[in-house]
Amino acid sequence: MNKFWENKTLSSMSDKEWELLCDGCGKCCLHKLEDEDDGKIYYTGVACQLLDVESCRCSHYAERLSLEPTCVKLTPDDVDNLQWLPGSCSYRRVQDGRGLPQWHHLICGDREEVHRGGHSIMGRCVSERHVHPDDLVEHIVQWVD
Ligand code: SF4
Ligand code: SF4
Repeated sequence: MNKFWENKTLSSMSDKEWELLCDGCGKCCLHKLEDEDDGKIYYTGVACQLLDVESCRCSHYAERLSLEPTCVKLTPDDVDNLQWLPGSCSYRRVQDGRGLPQWHHLICGDREEVHRGGHSIMGRCVSERHVHPDDLVEHIVQWVD
């Protein structure tokens, strides 16, 4: 395996390499709330309506940006600028020079390990289809790292 993430900057990766770098944790698909007073971001355990909460994958990945206005297409610049991107996100780890964890599929060869090891949102989120927007604050979680 060519360990491209060790030799390339995020901005020099090909589209295929960029997509491979995502660990599939799903954390960025959770709704977040921002405190109006201090700007602090709080994650909720409520997932985007397009997330298949069973498989932890986007149900319409190719068309996600046109179907879901709140979906953000990550770019290398975003990794520095998006305050809400989790510290555990593989893009942020590589950008910060922390490398990839042992459970990442590019290291262990198994895309399910992120879920087995409890590093994803699988089994601990609910679809926004089942939550009223006014109730989001009741779903704030502390486990997004
Ligand atoms: S938080 Fe990062 S690694 Fe996890 S699903 Fe989102 S983009 Fe991929
Ligand atoms: S549209 Fe798909 S990728 Fe975008 S936030 Fe929703 S589930 Fe995640």
